[in-house]
Amino acid sequence: MSQKEQRLRAAQLAATTAGLDALLIPPSADLLYLTGYDAHALERLTLLVLPADGEPTLIVPRLERPAAEAADPHGVRIVDHVDGADPYDLVTAALGGAKPDAVGLGNRMWAEQVLALRAALPSAEQRLAGAVLAGLRLRKAPDEVEALRRAGQAIDAVHARMGQWLRAGRTESEVAADIAAAIRAAGHATVEFTIVASGPNGASPHHGTSDRVIAVGEPVVVDIGGRMPDGYCSDSTRTYCVGEPPAEFAAYYRVLLEAQRAAVAAVRPGVTAASVDAAARDLIAAAGFGDAFLHRTGHGIGLDGHEDPYIVAGNDTPLEEGMAFSIEPGIYLAGKHGARIEDIVVCTGTGVDRLNTLPTDLVIL
Ligand code: ZN
Ligand code: ZN
Repeated sequence: MSQKEQRLRAAQLAATTAGLDALLIPPSADLLYLTGYDAHALERLTLLVLPADGEPTLIVPRLERPAAEAADPHGVRIVDHVDGADPYDLVTAALGGAKPDAVGLGNRMWAEQVLALRAALPSAEQRLAGAVLAGLRLRKAPDEVEALRRAGQAIDAVHARMGQWLRAGRTESEVAADIAAAIRAAGHATVEFTIVASGPNGASPHHGTSDRVIAVGEPVVVDIGGRMPDGYCSDSTRTYCVGEPPAEFAAYYRVLLEAQRAAVAAVRPGVTAASVDAAARDLIAAAGFGDAFLHRTGHGIGLDGHEDPYIVAGNDTPLEEGMAFSIEPGIYLAGKHGARIEDIVVCTGTGVDRLNTLPTDLVIL
């Protein structure tokens, strides 16, 4: 049995355990995980119909059929629909005309499809498939860890070249364009984000880029990531300073550095996700910057850039071997500047494996 068929079988078993008669999965990382098909989300219906017991069917628009076949989804029958026909008839047909009591919908399904499926399958209670599939995707297999390691090495290679692009007198957008080209050159298939946040923009964790000109003495938060051809994601942040940093910034960067190291060191099987968050947060709060660390410590990563497990207060999920996630505490002083350090790590059988391996010290360019 191929890996794809094993995953489909595991998903069917998980659906059965959850009391679901079928999983209905639109284009998403879930679909890619189960079939290898990296489909576009379109207004035309693409849907994997995976009965808990029975043959899986992939419903695709006819013009997408060659792409679906090229993905070679083992053990999955492909059926297509033409423009103007009702594709939801194919959903009921794929379920053999059965009237399901409960179906699991992919978490990223568009609302218009949710409502059309409600009309097509009026007997079925609609629930989320995400929790069922997260149980499969949460612990990465060794080949997935190696895929994430390759992604980590690729993004590290981009950070290692930052001095070529990040200079006073250039705009954030100019620097980001160079970074984007380098993300592709390093082996990624797509660029997912290029945050270049200079000076006061660094205090906004999800600032993208702007036409702001970078000045001497300014800290710059650079958070970048992409997707590799196999679908696995990279995501890494380093904070740079163009010239000597302000004294206040240098002081809290040392706090952040210790906090990020402490959280990485806290990772091992059996500890909770919340305790890893606390390892970083307690140090930052003790130094007086608790209110300036305004987001969770991390997020899982795999075929989605953000997925389970979330490293956040209240998540008492015990870490297990194969769980991969970011450790990315930050300190943000509104109106002044900010800093974040982010590595992807994986929980091993005994501890932690960092998939980003560059030093985390402040880089002065
Ligand atoms: Zn990031
Ligand atoms: Zn991240």
